[in-house]
Amino acid sequence: MNIRKDPNINHNYDNFNFWQIDLKELPSRGRLYPKNAKIKARSMSVLEVKFLATLVPGNATNICNELLEKCTILENFSYDDLLLADREFLIFWIRLNSFINANGFVITIPECSGCKKQIEYTIKLLDLEFKYLDHPFINSVYLSDLDITLPVRIPRYRDSSFIVEDDIDEVCLWIDTDNSMEEKYTFVSNLTANDFMALKSHIDDNYCGVIKEVTIDCPHCGKAHRVKIEINDQNLFNNVDLSQILETITRIAKYSNLQITNDWSWVEVEVEQQIINKMINEENEANQKEIAKAKSQMPSMGAHRTSAPSMPSMPSVPHF
Ligand SMILES: [Zn+2]
Repeated sequence: MNIRKDPNINHNYDNFNFWQIDLKELPSRGRLYPKNAKIKARSMSVLEVKFLATLVPGNATNICNELLEKCTILENFSYDDLLLADREFLIFWIRLNSFINANGFVITIPECSGCKKQIEYTIKLLDLEFKYLDHPFINSVYLSDLDITLPVRIPRYRDSSFIVEDDIDEVCLWIDTDNSMEEKYTFVSNLTANDFMALKSHIDDNYCGVIKEVTIDCPHCGKAHRVKIEINDQNLFNNVDLSQILETITRIAKYSNLQITNDWSWVEVEVEQQIINKMINEENEANQKEIAKAKSQMPSMGAHRTSAPSMPSMPSVPHF
């Protein structure tokens, strides 16, 4: 997919509000960035939410990176230096601040081993827990069987282009050599159990980011299940639908005469929608009261009448 960059939409302080992110809140605690590094972020515009609606498996990483770069400003360091874990965190920040209902991650267990029923559980974004890099990172690990010191590093931004399919892929991302991913994969696959464990435990000790292993209790029988939250570029952002976006915009225009343009902040559009919903509800209630009042003021009917005269038709009230 060919993505055309609009140089004006990037980092225009006059058009968008940016908030400074405290680097200490990042999974890496900002530990591997220069002392004077800064990150600023903003929520998504209508144009960007429309762009997000075009996300399909083939372009997911591209769209995530494009949106992240539009909605953040990095000072005194570059995206190349941004850790994957912090990239994920920043996308969650943008997501939480762009959607009133930032839906979370759905975990499905096809069959509970206790009661054989299917379990579906949603983990809210705000309920995700993080592991932080709270100690200095050691950028090498000694593999005793091979008798080599292997350089390692925490996966970074450009590693987002690799599709991680298994645990070995994940380990490969940590190896800091010029070898190709295929060569790293062969190397890791051929490690002795001892060396593999040494490498894996070094990675686990230095892992930062979302804690993906969680325990879910079956809502039917209470049995605890250990599961892994699948988080990848296809579900990092909210799932949005273009026709719903356009419907929302059209409804707001219809009931409020507001013309929502692409530069509106999307969260403001959602707030506007809520305000209009509230107004419509209030109008409905007021109309219901009017109807009740009109009924009570109607002259009482003769005892022998079997049907009331038809009411004059009420003006139709818009519903969402
Ligand atoms: Zn169960």
